[in-house]
Amino acid sequence: MSAFNVAKFGGTSVANFEAMSRCAAIIEDNPSTKLVVSSACSGVTNLLVELALGVQNPDDRQAILDKVRAIHYSIIEQFSEQEKTRYSIDTILTTLSSMAEAASFQSGDKLTDHIVACGELMSTHILTQLMIERGINAVRFDIREVLRTNSDHGKAEPVIADISALAQQKLYPLCQQHVVVTQGFIGSDVEGNTTTLGRGGSDYSAALIAEAVKASGLEIWTDVPGIYTTDPRIAPKATPIPEISFSEASEMANFGAKILHPSTLLPALRHQIPVFVGSSREPEKGGTWIRKQVESAPQFRALALRNNQTMVTLRSPDMFQTYGFLAQVFNILAKYQISVDLITTSEVSVSLTLDQTNTSGQAPELPADVKAELEQLCLVEVEYNLSLVALIGNKMSAKKGYAKQVFGALEDFNLRMICYGASPHNLCFLVGEAEAKKAVEVLHRELFE
Ligand code: ADP
Ligand code: ASP
Ligand code: MG
Repeated sequence: MSAFNVAKFGGTSVANFEAMSRCAAIIEDNPSTKLVVSSACSGVTNLLVELALGVQNPDDRQAILDKVRAIHYSIIEQFSEQEKTRYSIDTILTTLSSMAEAASFQSGDKLTDHIVACGELMSTHILTQLMIERGINAVRFDIREVLRTNSDHGKAEPVIADISALAQQKLYPLCQQHVVVTQGFIGSDVEGNTTTLGRGGSDYSAALIAEAVKASGLEIWTDVPGIYTTDPRIAPKATPIPEISFSEASEMANFGAKILHPSTLLPALRHQIPVFVGSSREPEKGGTWIRKQVESAPQFRALALRNNQTMVTLRSPDMFQTYGFLAQVFNILAKYQISVDLITTSEVSVSLTLDQTNTSGQAPELPADVKAELEQLCLVEVEYNLSLVALIGNKMSAKKGYAKQVFGALEDFNLRMICYGASPHNLCFLVGEAEAKKAVEVLHRELFE
């Protein structure tokens, strides 16, 4: 097969019958689209997370299950052939109801994954039937047969070699006969337990699958016509970026631009698959192309914002003119598998932020045993309610006066942990969560409007 396109549709793109029909039209428009990756219908994953956290009152639980059912039934009602799909949804809802009851006694990461996976399992039944009714030769495929991960529930890591072998064996041949519709976000470990890649993980799934089938293109269809200079919900004057490099887009995703899951571009970059981001509501508006080589490399490209940051400051007078302190700190963090994001150091202290990718979306915690062990070494202070703002660009420091321009605009804000230098593509800092959006707005006005 020469041109092989993978198209991913996010939650709002498959929110209801009309939205799903627009997705089907996009698929019909491009005959090289052989594989479709779908998120859960908009709002469903949040409801499932509520159930997974454990809803004690049976009536409250039922009310959530009814909402989930209503979202899916309202689409099925518009089909000519309703029975089969309704049966598939009912079967999933029955299992979901028992799992939600189990979670009300004891919730846990493994059960959470089984519960939240139901969203994608349901949406793909419906999208497939909708496509079939429009005359598309569509077939639904359970991606858990291919998307092998480790057992780290809530933020599972893909096993690339296995995914590639399984995709070649099970998925690729199917794509030669049909347009295959499959789930984003979910996978399974070697024992067959359902796992998930973390919130917003469908983008990452689509890229992993595109890599595994050696696709020639990946389209991410969402609710905005491309990647903007910042989240248009924060700065209404943000403008779409027609073309952006893999490195710049990766920095944006890593630093919180919700438009792409942070890991999405890794597989695309490994296999040099060009990625397109566009709006399924307004496909005619075009979108953003993410490629290895792009024509422009502006000094300032975009701003990203990530909330829920946990900052840990470690202080030790013993660190003064000695060696080995940082090694000891990082040994402890590594022993407990704590992943670190930003770091700044002074002569006697080090500040770092904790990485976060799991399903809960809450600020990551420094576990008590890790804190206790660090306290044997130094003073430990943990702070919450912080946001990370990242300015993405190219060789920002090459032009004189850039620091004055950036920090001058932010003179009224109390900036913490300013980091620049390790990557030529980003400059970032922490700011109090309450004033973070304002900081992005002000900086956007200064640099992009
Ligand atoms: P989907 O459900 O399709 O995956 P998401 O809600 O995860 O969609 O991502 C799309 C949203 O990302 C947009 O509605 C927008 O608010 C947000 N966003 C954040 N940063 C950006 C950006 N730089 N450009 C465009 N959208 C952004
Ligand atoms: N449905 C999942 C979520 O809401 C995955 C995704 O949409 O990408 O996080
Ligand atoms: Mg998303």
